[in-house]
Amino acid sequence: MNYPFNLTHVGAENCVTGSCHLMELPGSINIMVDCGLTMGGDTALSLSQMPVKPSELDYLFITHAHIDHIGRIPDLIDLGFDGEIITTHGTNALLIPMLEDALAFTDRSEKEIKVLSARINDLSWGFEYNQSFSLKKGIKFKLKNAGHILGSCFIRFEIPVKEKTPFSVIFSGDLGSINTPILPDPDIPDHCDLLILESTYGDRNHEDRTKRIENLSAMLRKALADKGKIYIPAFALGRTQELIYEMDRIFTREKWDTKIPVFIDSPLGLKITGIYSSLSEFWDKEARTLFKKGDHPIDFKKLFAVENQRDHKRILNIPGPAIIVAGSGMCTGGRILDHLENSLEDSKNDVIFVGYQAKETPGREIIKYARRKNGYVNLNGQKVAINAAIHKLTGYSAHADQKGLVGFVESMGEKPGKIKLVHGEPGSQKVLRNILYSKGCK
Ligand SMILES: [Zn+2]
Repeated sequence: MNYPFNLTHVGAENCVTGSCHLMELPGSINIMVDCGLTMGGDTALSLSQMPVKPSELDYLFITHAHIDHIGRIPDLIDLGFDGEIITTHGTNALLIPMLEDALAFTDRSEKEIKVLSARINDLSWGFEYNQSFSLKKGIKFKLKNAGHILGSCFIRFEIPVKEKTPFSVIFSGDLGSINTPILPDPDIPDHCDLLILESTYGDRNHEDRTKRIENLSAMLRKALADKGKIYIPAFALGRTQELIYEMDRIFTREKWDTKIPVFIDSPLGLKITGIYSSLSEFWDKEARTLFKKGDHPIDFKKLFAVENQRDHKRILNIPGPAIIVAGSGMCTGGRILDHLENSLEDSKNDVIFVGYQAKETPGREIIKYARRKNGYVNLNGQKVAINAAIHKLTGYSAHADQKGLVGFVESMGEKPGKIKLVHGEPGSQKVLRNILYSKGCK
C-alpha cells in the first residue's frame, strides 16, 4: 500500500519501549506521534538523525504520559522543537509531573527544569475525546479513549488526498485491557486505511479480573498469616492507582478485620494518585458509583504515604505483615531497589510483578533467576540472593492482551486497509501477525 506520507518508526518498531513515529506529509507538514525513552536493552533512532530536524516538526501528538512515550520531549525541545504538543486534557495534566520527576535524575539543574516545564506548558494543549479537530493543510484528527491509563488515547488522522477520499491512519498508542480498574474500556475505533497497532501482548492472554483479584487476595492473606512483606514494583502512573483501588475493594468486599498496612513509597506515585483522584470525570462507572456512595475508590484507612527519604529509610525494616508499593516498575531504579536489596533474601517475603518487564531489566532478571537454584540478581551494585517467592500477576497489565488487540481490529467493522505492528518484541508480533492474517487482515 502506498501512503500519502513518509512514515519513520523512530522508536519501538520491534520492541516495547521508546515509542516515537514520524509522518512527513504533503505540503511539508511533519507530525510526530509520541517521543518516548527506551528502557533496558531497547534501542531507537537518535532524534538528531531523523529524516527531519526537530525544528521542522509542526506537531507532536502524545498518546499518554508513560515515560516510554514522553521521555524524550525535553531532548526534542533542546534540539529546537517549537511546534505544538497535542494530547488529551488528562495527559496534559500528567505530562509535566511525569517529566519533572524523570528530569530530577538527570544533570539538569532545578532552574533548568523549571524553565523547560514552563516551555512544555506553553507548547502543550489538551483536547476533548471524540471530537474532530483541524490542523494545517486540511489535516484532521480525533482522539479516542484507549483505556490504558488516565488520559490515554488512540489517534485517528485524516489526510487530504487530491480528488480522492482522505487517507486515514490510526496510531493505537498503548491499548488498555477491558475491565481495567478505575478506567472505562477502550473506545471502538472508526475504520482506517492504515492502523499502527501496538503488540506488547500479541502472543498471550491475561487472566480475567476476577481471577487476578482472587490471586491478589490469596497473596495478601498469606502475608497476613506468615507476617511476611509483599513488595510490588509498580509504575507510579497507572498501576499504583489500580492496585490501591483493587486492594481497597478486597479489604472492603471480603470484610477483612485486620487490614494489612499498605505503604505507597513513591513521591511521584503519590502526586499522580492525587491527579487521578481529582479527575473523576475520566473514571469508569464503577469508580464513580463508589465515590457517590461516600467510598473514595483510591483511598482507605491503613494506606500510608511515604513522602521523604527519612520515612523511606524507616520502613525498610518495618516488621510484616506489610505491603510496599514502590517504583520503578521494572526495578531499574527508585526506592524499590533498597527494599529488594534488603528483603529479597528472606523466604517469608513475596514480590509481585504486575507489569511488563523489558529485556535486561532487573525485574526480568529476578523473574528469570528466581526459578534457578542459587538464583541471584545484582541490585545497587550488590549480589542479592532471590529467596523470596516471586509472582507474576499478568492480569494487572494495562495493555490489551491478544484477544483485546484482535477485538480492537475486529470492532472496526470493515477491516483496516493495512496493519503495521509496532511496540512489541518480534516473537509477540509474529504470533499476532499470523492471527490477523488468518482473519483476512493485511
Ligand atoms: Zn503505556
